[in-house]
Amino acid sequence: MIDAELERFRRLHPRCAELHERARGSLFSGVPMPWMALWAGGYPVSVAAAYGSRVVCEDGVEFVDLCLGDTGAMAGHAPAPVLEALRSPRGITTMLPTEDAAWVGEELTRRFGLDRWLFTLTATDANRTALRIARMLTGRPRILVYSYCYHGSVDEAVAVRRDGATVSREGNVGPPVDVAQTTVAVEFNDLDQLEAALRTGEIACVLAEPAMTNMGIVLPDDGYHAALRELTREHGTLLIIDETHTFSAGPGGCTQAWGLEPDLLTIGKAIGGGVPCGALGLTAAVEAGMRAHEEADYEDTGGVGGTLAGNALSLAAMRATLGAVLTDDVWERTIPLATRFADGVRGAIGDRAMHVTQLGCRAEYRFGREPARNGTEAHAATDSERERFLHLYALNRGVLITPFHNMALMAPTTTAEDVDRHTAVFGEALQALG
Ligand code: PMP
Repeated sequence: MIDAELERFRRLHPRCAELHERARGSLFSGVPMPWMALWAGGYPVSVAAAYGSRVVCEDGVEFVDLCLGDTGAMAGHAPAPVLEALRSPRGITTMLPTEDAAWVGEELTRRFGLDRWLFTLTATDANRTALRIARMLTGRPRILVYSYCYHGSVDEAVAVRRDGATVSREGNVGPPVDVAQTTVAVEFNDLDQLEAALRTGEIACVLAEPAMTNMGIVLPDDGYHAALRELTREHGTLLIIDETHTFSAGPGGCTQAWGLEPDLLTIGKAIGGGVPCGALGLTAAVEAGMRAHEEADYEDTGGVGGTLAGNALSLAAMRATLGAVLTDDVWERTIPLATRFADGVRGAIGDRAMHVTQLGCRAEYRFGREPARNGTEAHAATDSERERFLHLYALNRGVLITPFHNMALMAPTTTAEDVDRHTAVFGEALQALG
């Protein structure tokens, strides 16, 4: 069945095949970044146009895009207010602030509650900086993450828990040191493992997604976050909440929606409407701690920042996105669309051993009857072959979902018809699978 779909894909996309073939002459894997080669067709469609919730490929095929750049385009592709802001003549990068900077800082404080912000180019950079700050403030060597988490290409976070030990996740490319030296990986939703790790007194910080989103969506148990906060406070461990994907939960992510109280907060991707950016939020107490370290060099060569971080273009994009595209009211429309998606998928699944989970305007289906409670369980529920078939089937019928997993995200531009189109295609694909 996969072969038949691959043949259909090749028939639909001869021009994309040509472009990929040419790119193979100069690009590693024939794509700008290797993960772009992961789409189910064997080669990626080459984008001729992307607007709103639509992508059009070089063969002229139009897709309903529910992948949305794996969250980077949660505002929809090329939103008009962002394009407009990018045209303004304040330069692109000057190493000087613009008026947009304070506006964005104030808006992030309004949404997420943290007192001070600094900007990076990616969520990965925000996480790396957060870890440095946490280690400096606590003087402790290790960080804690959840097994099968993903926080970007952050060395310490490429870790899983196996037989009670922290080991490198399979495929980790050239880790600089053994991850067991830097990290303790525990299972999400396991308070005993968390407490045992914190009790060692070695843990500088917990780097946590409020709900795991990179191994399906794994939701926290009732009371988990209250206990996490209480335990981290009790053991003098800082809590970093990574809202990069969980921004789907509402205008202030899970932090606002669930009343979380992180010491540091990281976010990237969607807040720039697709323009590279990241932000790191600090409480007043963390800021005071940083100031107390008079020897710390935040301005020059101390390991924080980058020349292009906080550039005028990123800040203009963030202001336009937060001010005019992903405004508070948007989730009132996009969350019901994700519910419609989940209901549609649930209906099509019937009594098959699959399930669907939702976090705000994001939903994801997976194999297994019950939703996983942690990353290891979620990893075990992967069925790569069936997933590839479902992705390919959708791709061949004009629907894009995220290639690494089975995620669908709703933008302000997504419509109920878009969702229903996925539901119909998904239902047919499952029937074809039998
Ligand atoms: N945090 C989370 C939760 C992520 O899922 C990702 C990437 N998928 C990142 C951080 C890193 O984002 P980026 O690759 O844009 O730096």
